[in-house]
Amino acid sequence: MGKAKLPVNGSSEYYEIRLESIGGLGANLCGKMLGELGVKYLGLNSSSFSSYGSEKTGTPVKGFIRYCDKDREIRVHSPVISPNLLVVFHQALLKDESVLAGCGENTEIIVGLDGGVNEISGQIPGGIKACYVINAQQIAMETHSRINVVMLGAMAKVMGFMELEDVNQICGDTLGKKYPDALQGNLEGIRRGYEEIKELTGSVSEFAKGTAEKAPGRETASGWGYATAPEGGINPRFGSSVVSDLSPSRQGYIPLFIKERCINCGLCDSTCPDMVFQFVPGKYKDKEMMVNKGLDYYHCKGCLRCVEVCPVNALVRGLEAEHPYKEYFLPNKDLVRTPDYYLKTGADGYVTSESYLTEKRMGGGEV
Ligand code: SF4
Ligand code: SF4
Repeated sequence: MGKAKLPVNGSSEYYEIRLESIGGLGANLCGKMLGELGVKYLGLNSSSFSSYGSEKTGTPVKGFIRYCDKDREIRVHSPVISPNLLVVFHQALLKDESVLAGCGENTEIIVGLDGGVNEISGQIPGGIKACYVINAQQIAMETHSRINVVMLGAMAKVMGFMELEDVNQICGDTLGKKYPDALQGNLEGIRRGYEEIKELTGSVSEFAKGTAEKAPGRETASGWGYATAPEGGINPRFGSSVVSDLSPSRQGYIPLFIKERCINCGLCDSTCPDMVFQFVPGKYKDKEMMVNKGLDYYHCKGCLRCVEVCPVNALVRGLEAEHPYKEYFLPNKDLVRTPDYYLKTGADGYVTSESYLTEKRMGGGEV
């Protein structure tokens, strides 16, 4: 077991990492592996914990890891506010400014891409040490691994005090025992993450020119209190049940709807955990009934349970990258809102949605 030299200056006791993710991408396990790796293979003291909601795919997840030398004790057990390394598992999470809170001149940021690098250039704050990008989702699909192991490889490269071999070892200890058949793919995912991570420089890097605004301050990360919480207790942040943009949870696959095959049995609707299917009154084989009009992909997290239950293969698994313009994409007009909308309107904006008004009208109530 080698002893790692942490890149911290004299005034700082810890090397701190914050993982920003969404349920289903494996950030919780990634944090646990990093914590164990520090103790078992780097000769450090380490701590690791996560914060998440209902353990449901699509909810926000944060992971916090601290390392320090063996001769010190970790006495701080609070979330990491000003990280040395911030790891954003999916670029869409950058829409939430609290994700970038507390980043400063000692912070390196890794962003998992799912699109072009140009899409994120304006979202990276100024005044940070460096920003790196990795096509984590694509690599995970090609290697039959998960985004979390690709990120582990990328993190090892950026941190510099952790060897690729150390990450392979912890992967073998953790995943190799439980899923021996998946080990080779995961090791390949780690290797590609390590080798393919790139620093964001040049014209796409606004922060490199010092023109982008600085990251939000620590207070953005401190959460809501009496004076700052949105009205009505609505949680307007990314991945919450109100905003519900679950698209970053998808791991490259979506259900494709083949309408001609659909017999409108409704099994997909009763199986889908996120009310993606849009059934409306209509006709099928000359009978009046509720018919399946399409899917609201904005709320689809790509679990593909609907594909499993459809009795006539009217839903099939497809590669999302091959279907950028999704046929039968039917946004749910009641639910598509931006976080800003709820911050401005609070709970009232939600309960006066069209479905609520319709319900009241049907019940003969005043609206
Ligand atoms: S389960 Fe298949 S056949 Fe049944 S409503 Fe859904 S898409 Fe149509
Ligand atoms: S994959 Fe199917 S079941 Fe899963 S969230 Fe999307 S529509 Fe619903």
